[in-house]
Amino acid sequence: MDCIFCKIIKGDIPCYKIYEDDDVLAMLDIANDVEGHTLVLPKKHVTDLNDSDEETFDKVMNVTKRISDHYLDLGFEGVNVVINSKSAAGQEVKHLHAHIFPRRSGDEVKIQLVKPDKNFSLEEVAKKLRLN
Ligand code: AMP
Ligand code: ZN
Repeated sequence: MDCIFCKIIKGDIPCYKIYEDDDVLAMLDIANDVEGHTLVLPKKHVTDLNDSDEETFDKVMNVTKRISDHYLDLGFEGVNVVINSKSAAGQEVKHLHAHIFPRRSGDEVKIQLVKPDKNFSLEEVAKKLRLN
């Protein structure tokens, strides 16, 4: 399969490894934008959050928390955790991964949501989206 993250997991492409166990790999994001920007991915190829089985997703999230806790132990003061699922949400690599952005107060990093110029009725949206 032509998946860059599967190639990294197989060892065909190098990475800056942060953590590995039987099911999960964590590595630095090659973007080199925020200090410690880390990707946590399952070794099993699943395309995204919504196509993932629960067990695989749970493993990724457990490691995401462990690494985040570790970063706080090392002196970072917070983290942003982001998962993009599917192209419409900006996912570029179609192999499930969680981004960890380690943060310090005053680090000048901004994880920004750009708000479209639209207004919604919370009542109508809640009616439409409620999960029973
Ligand atoms: P996403 O938009 O959530 O799919 O993010 C994909 C991320 O993968 C981007 O932040 C890329 O910088 C990162 N990326 C792409 N190729 C590599 C690679 N070979 N090693 C590490 N990170 C990568
Ligand atoms: Zn893959």
